[in-house]
This record gives sequence, C-alpha cells and structure tokens, in this order.
Amino acid sequence: MTAAAPTPKAVVHQRFGAKARYTVEEVREAVGGCPGLAPQTRSVYRCALDLPGLSVATPGTFLRKKDAEQAAAQIALDKLGIQPTANIPSTPQEAWDELIARISGFFIDENFLSSTHPLVGHLCVTLRRTGDLIGRIPLPAIAACDVKVNTLCKVIDHRAEFDPLLVLSLMYNAAKQSPGVSVSDSNFWIQSEKPYSPEAVELALERWSGTTKPVEVEVILVPHVLEDELKTVRINLRDYEHYMSYVAAELSAIDSSHVLVSRTIGKASSEIRLYFAAPNIHVVSDISKNALACHGDGDINWQVNKRASYICGQTIYGDALLANIGYTRRDSELHTEDVNLCTYYRILLGKLPDGNCKMSRDSILAAQLPSAYSRFSWKGLSPRDLLCSFCRLQRLPEPQFAVSRVSCDMLMSAVSSEERGAPADSVENQYTNDVRINKETPDLFKCEVNIRSRKQEILLEYSAADTWSKESDAIQNSALKVLIWFNNYFKKLTSKTDKLYLSECTDGVKIHSNIFLQEFAMCLSVYGKTGGNDSAMCNAVGPFSMDTQRKHLESTAKLTHIDGPDSGVFPSHGSLTSISYTASLVTKDKAKTYLLESRDEFEFEIGTGAVSNQLESCVTQLSVNQTACFLAELPPRDLIMAAAFEVSHDLSNVSIESCFLEFFVKVLQVTEPLEDRMEKALFSPPLSKQRVEFAVRHINELHATTLVDFGCGSGSLLDSLLEHPTTLEKLVGVDISRKGLTRAAKSLHQKLSKKSMMQTNVPTAVLYDGSITDYDSRLYGFDIGTCLEVIEHVEEDQATLFGNVVLSSFRPTVLIVSTPNYEYNPILQGSAMPNKDDEADESVGPCKFRNHDHKFEWTRAQFQCWATGLAVKHNYSVEFSGVGGSGEEPGYASQIAVFRRMMQGQEAMCLDKDGDQPYEVLWEWPNA
Ligand code: SAH
Ligand code: MG
Repeated sequence: MTAAAPTPKAVVHQRFGAKARYTVEEVREAVGGCPGLAPQTRSVYRCALDLPGLSVATPGTFLRKKDAEQAAAQIALDKLGIQPTANIPSTPQEAWDELIARISGFFIDENFLSSTHPLVGHLCVTLRRTGDLIGRIPLPAIAACDVKVNTLCKVIDHRAEFDPLLVLSLMYNAAKQSPGVSVSDSNFWIQSEKPYSPEAVELALERWSGTTKPVEVEVILVPHVLEDELKTVRINLRDYEHYMSYVAAELSAIDSSHVLVSRTIGKASSEIRLYFAAPNIHVVSDISKNALACHGDGDINWQVNKRASYICGQTIYGDALLANIGYTRRDSELHTEDVNLCTYYRILLGKLPDGNCKMSRDSILAAQLPSAYSRFSWKGLSPRDLLCSFCRLQRLPEPQFAVSRVSCDMLMSAVSSEERGAPADSVENQYTNDVRINKETPDLFKCEVNIRSRKQEILLEYSAADTWSKESDAIQNSALKVLIWFNNYFKKLTSKTDKLYLSECTDGVKIHSNIFLQEFAMCLSVYGKTGGNDSAMCNAVGPFSMDTQRKHLESTAKLTHIDGPDSGVFPSHGSLTSISYTASLVTKDKAKTYLLESRDEFEFEIGTGAVSNQLESCVTQLSVNQTACFLAELPPRDLIMAAAFEVSHDLSNVSIESCFLEFFVKVLQVTEPLEDRMEKALFSPPLSKQRVEFAVRHINELHATTLVDFGCGSGSLLDSLLEHPTTLEKLVGVDISRKGLTRAAKSLHQKLSKKSMMQTNVPTAVLYDGSITDYDSRLYGFDIGTCLEVIEHVEEDQATLFGNVVLSSFRPTVLIVSTPNYEYNPILQGSAMPNKDDEADESVGPCKFRNHDHKFEWTRAQFQCWATGLAVKHNYSVEFSGVGGSGEEPGYASQIAVFRRMMQGQEAMCLDKDGDQPYEVLWEWPNA
C-alpha cells in the first residue's frame, strides 16, 4: 500500500537537504535475563534529528541505525504536518477513490497486520476477542492513527484539516463504499467482512503484545462552558477493553465509535489529543454530502469548545478530555502518560509568542523574551526557531525570510535567501544609513520577513532598516523583531484594555489587518477581544484568564535581606550572569509555601530584558556569592499553573490571588561583558589599562590638578588614577547610572580611606548624578575632561550635543574622548569571540557592534569628522590617536581624540560660577 511512497528520510532530505542533521546514538541494552547467567547486551540505536526550527528524537530504540533515522524523520514529518507529496492525489475525486481503497486496505490486506502502523495496535485489542466483535474498531481510531487518511480528506474538502467531525463524516461515507469492510448503519464501527487468517492474527499479536496491565491515567476535562473550571479525571484502563470505551464512558458518549479524536497536540512524539463525543450518526453522515452547507448554520446544536479548539487548532464540540493515550509506531503497547493541569497550561503557554522562549529556557517565571539578539549571549531556541514554532502552533505556514545583500558601493544586488526563495523586492529601497558605509566594509545583509495566512496571503510584513554583516544575524534579528511585535500584540489581547487597536504599520511591521484578524480569530475569541458575533460568551480562557492586571511595571525589587559579604564582583550592564533561584507561591498568612520553579544554574545577560525587571533589579544589587529574597508581582494565573508542575494538584484549590510570589536568588558567577573580555584577552596590558595610562600621560604633561570623568560608570578610571602618582588634587565623576555611581562610591571610598591613613596629600573627590549633555557650572574650566567609551552609548545627535556642551560650556583645557573604532572589529571578531559561530561556511565579516548597548560605532573617518567639526566650532585644536594595536591599518582598537583649548587673548570669559547646577551630589570625599 505504501510501496510508492518516498521514505520519511527522503522527504526530509527533499525539504531540508544538508540542513537536516541526524545524530545516532548507540545504546547497550540488556537482553535475555536468565537467572544465574551474566546479562547479555546488544547494541540498539536512537536517533535525534535537527532541522531548522525543529529538533526531534526517537523516544525508543531500534535494532538498526537506519530504522532509528527513518523513525526520527517520520516524527519530524508528523510534527511538521508534511506528507510525502509524491503520491497525494490532486483532485477531490481521486482522493475520494483513494480514501475508499485505503480504508479497505487496512482490513483486506493481511500484510498490514504485520506492519508497525499504530492502527494495528487498535486491531490487536479486538483480535483477541471472539465472535462478531473480532477485529471491530471505531472509525475515529483510523483518523487518529493514519496521517494519509487525513490528508486525503483534506484534498476532498480543505476544511477537513480543522474539523474532525467532517473527517469522520467523509470516512464514514467512504467506508460504506469500501470493498471488503462492513460498516454499521447505526454507529461508527468498522470491521473486515471476512475473518483474518489465524497466521496473520498470530503475527500481529506477537508484535503488538496488547497486554497492558491495568493502568490508571490522569486526564483533564475541558468543559465547553468557558466559565466551568478544568477538572482532573482519572481513567482506569484494563486490557480486555479498547481504551476508547473508557474514554467514551467518561464523555457519556454512546460508545467508543462515537469518540472523536483530535490531532496530536504539542510534541509530535506525544500522544496528547483531545477526545470528544460525536453527535449521532444521521447528523454526521449528512455532513459531507452537503459539505458546503454543513454545520455552523445551526444544524448541529453542539457547542464549540473554544478552549479545546484553540489548543489543538481544530473544531472541538462539547466537553472534551485532554489525554495522553494511544498506539504509536514505536511502542508495541498502549502508550499512556498522565496529563495534569500543568500540561494543559504549558500547551496554552506554548501558543504565546514568548511561551516557547520561556519553556526552552526551562524557566517560565523568570525568563522573558529578550529585546535584543546577540549570537553570543542568546540562550535557548533561537529567535528564528521560536518564530517558526509560533507560526506552526498557530497553524500558519512557515515564516518566509528574504535576505538581501547590501553592498557598500550602493549597488544594490538583492539576493533572495537560498532556502526560502522568496522574491527579493527590496531593490528600490535606498540604503541611506551612512554610518556603516565604508570601502573596507564588505557586503552587509538585511532580512525581510513575511508571515502568511493559511491561504498564503501575507498578513504581516517586516522590512528591516538595520543591516548586519552576517546573514544569520540579519535573519535572527528580524525574526526577533517580528516575535516582539506578536508578543506585544498578545500582551494587549490578554490585558483588560477594551479596545484592541491594530496599528497597520509600526517599527517596520506592516499588518494586513483583514487577513490578520481572520487568521487570529480563534485567539481573539479565546482571549475575549472579538468584538464580533459571540464575544459575550467567550470572555476569556475560562476563569483562568490570561489577564495580567498589572497596573504598572514595578522595576525595582525591594530585597528583604541580603546574605553574604560583598565580594566586589558584581553583575554590570552587558555581563553574563549566572544565578540560582527558587520561586515559590506563599499564602498571605505565610502558612503554606508551594515551590513553583527552581534552577541551580541560570545564565543571562544583564540589560537585554532576558529576565523580568524585578529579578534583574535584584541581581544587580548583589555581588557574587550573595543571596537575597524579594516578593515579586504576581504573574498571571496561567503562567503560575504552567510553572507548577509538581504542585499543580494542590494549587487547584488555592486562591492564587491571595498569595505572594517569593524569589530566592543567589549570584553564582559574573562574566564581564564581551567587550571587556575581548579587551582583556587581546591586549596586554588590557585596553582599559591602556586608556588609563593614556590619561595619566596627559595629566603629567599638563601638571593637571583637576579632572572630570564624563560618564565615569563604576569609576574604573578614577579608581586607577588613585593608584598612579599624579598631580591631581580633585577628581570628579559624572554619570546617569545610579547603580554605576554607587559602585564607584564604594570602591573610591575604600581606596581613599586607605590612602588617607598613609598619605597626606589625598585628592578630594565628588560623584555627581547627572547627564553629560547638561551643563553644570561647578565643573567649569577643569584641567582635564575625560569621556572614555561613552559617546557610543548615546544616540548620535546626543553625542554631538555633548560635544557642543563640553567644548562651549565646560571648556576643559584638555578633553580626551575615546570610542571604539568600527574598522577594528573584524580583528576582534576574528580572534577572540567565544563559541565561534556554528555556521562555518560564513565568511568572518566585521561583527555588528562590540556591545549591544552601543548605539553606533564609528569608522576613523566618521569620528574625525565629528571631532574636527566640534573643534573648529569651539576654538579647540584636535589630535587623533588611540590605544590597542599599532595604529596602522585599520587603526587603533579604541580611537581617541585629544582636544586642546586654544588660548585666545584672555580666555577667562565669565566663570558663571553660580549658573546652572543640575547635577546631584551623590558622594563626596572627604565627607562634607
Ligand atoms: N567611562 C567608563 C564607562 C563607560 S560605559 C569606562 O570607561 O569604563 C558608558 C557609561 O556612560 C555608562 O556608565 C552610562 O551610564 C554612561 N552614560 C550614558 N549616557 C550618559 C549620559 N547622558 N550622561 C552621563 N552618563 C551617561
Ligand atoms: Mg562602550
């Protein structure tokens, strides 16, 4: 029957080519087991398959490697919903004929009984019966087990994809015409007309042992009335009955032939499905006859179960059971697994744009969808994989990525992405971002994304303005932008805002709202934002709504206690930080605590939004080895339930709203930002040290006594200057980051205390909280101003504003400004990047920027243009220099401009001592 079908591996190869990666693992398995004898072992194999956007593995093992690979490929195809296209009929009539033949085949072809088709599992239970009932199975079992039948039904009527009832109806009518099988007139039983040969039965029973011990499985009842709560139900399965009859009893269906089965939900390897009762046979047998006028027009007064329909993407009627029971190709027994409330909520979570990000990081309560992508610090599934799985779960086609090459000489050669083959239509887009145009810069990439409807109409277009030096970065960044858009949209859906405004074009995202709303109708109705026909009855996902009810985003965590001494090693912006944490639900009277989530090691980059605001705020108040506890805002109930694997039972009776969410956090390790690591790894002395030495040279040369460090951060320069013998009498630091300033205050305080015990001429020091684009008259006319690696952290116009303010108002005698040299990036990337990109085939171009907080990085020409303009305007001279490297092509790693005030008659214009003083003193030495 399947002779002409290409193997699963062949289909995977057709679709993915070399992008499909099989990993076969050999396992030694014990065989035999004679008492007294040493156990024998043999080799068996399991296989993992990685595809772009999907990874699967065989749950069981195989005797042959190639069987393991085929099985893995089959799982992937099931999951992707891909059919071997070679033998799918194209016309409804052909499909109809083939459906009839296929149904016959299951019963008249005795060889079928020795196959591994999961339907044989169903048959075997009934083959052990006697009399009339032998080999009689429920028709819906065929739909549940055989992908091909579903595909044929889809060709006959495309709506079959979303409607198990229509599939049953088509199958029933086809089965009536199938030769060799008999179908009941009053129910949905089907069996072979002739008895099977004893040999065939023997063979089948050998493969499918069919002897499951009595087992109790937990399933979830999803009532069709949204106001009714989900319920956990236990079903006892005994081996002498077909399992669907126990399901039927639970659903109060007429018998097991009236139990309809959805497609699998969640992982392809799972057998999680929704079961619901079919209406009586007259209704069903009519459906396909007048398929066009079918249900929906009141013929069936069955209620659509919105929650169930939403999670499986098919139309489910009435109360439904979510259960993990079934026969698979892999096991020779009935496979069962408990489904609890947590399973349900994780399925729900998986449909949200950030859900898989949380789950792939195994951190539902702490992890968030980061706002920026960096291939070095991104954890869990990549943005592209996340977007693909989001579309898949929303039953949309795979997203299309169109990469175009932007060459620097402005000759646009648009190249469509090799694998997606989408038309490159961006030629007319003028490349106007002059920041990165430079002769030495090789081609750059940008990536557009299209999300299409099931009918292949575009519903969302993302067109990127940003360019990237690596194709994969362009794709990942664009995928993330789209995901973030969806995430914001879903956040709006799940909040209580009354009006849902779908803006047509924001941040490069263009929405075709008609098509969009049509495709997301089910989400809208589940989350209660239909505004359409039936909004009254479906106000939420039942009483467990996704509503976050957050009034405002609390951004600082109040730590109730901090344990452990300050080790001085703290997580700073851009550093990779490893923590351990537990999150528990605590009742307000503190009588009960439920541990929801706990991680021994969880790593993230500070400043990328990879964790909740409060958690990040907690972590940045600690140093390595310190622990703290804080009470977090209560997340939506759905999220708590999804996290609560162990305690989901207990929680079903707890009023979550009257609880706290308590976090215990320990900072384990901090890895400096990539930029700093590179500066240390590649330069000796480290680049930061070289910058200090550069400043010291100018201090000595000038016999400077006063210095102001603009954007001093945590005070590394001021700190180091105290270690050098200098002429300085007054040190000042300005920054807008309180966190940085607090760190600076701590370490300066320590240093100065020590110093003043041993020396007499200790400089005074002040730290100000303020923006360097504002003038503060207390800092007028200093000997030296430094501004090291700061300007690239603000937008270009702000950098120019700072330049104007500092040279026109602060007017230091000498101003030293350093910033990364963009042209040097290829060298940094070539040598020091950790976990070098997996895509070995890509040429090593310059990396984007050294630090995700950088708003720009300039070439030498750009920096010199900026600095020269300022110098001329404000009567300064300027010289260019740098640190890191020899200074020959492509210049220094850090480029530095040294501005000198030109004497102009009597310079001391008005000192304006009492002018604006917007800065706030944060710390002072000696203490005033
Ligand atoms: N100069 C330090 C820190 C560089 S990081 C060093 O070389 O180590 C950049 C710093 O600029 C950060 O501390 C950030 O808080 C600060 N910064 C950014 N914009 C600022 C502004 N408008 N005013 C003051 N500081 C600013
Ligand atoms: Mg920087």
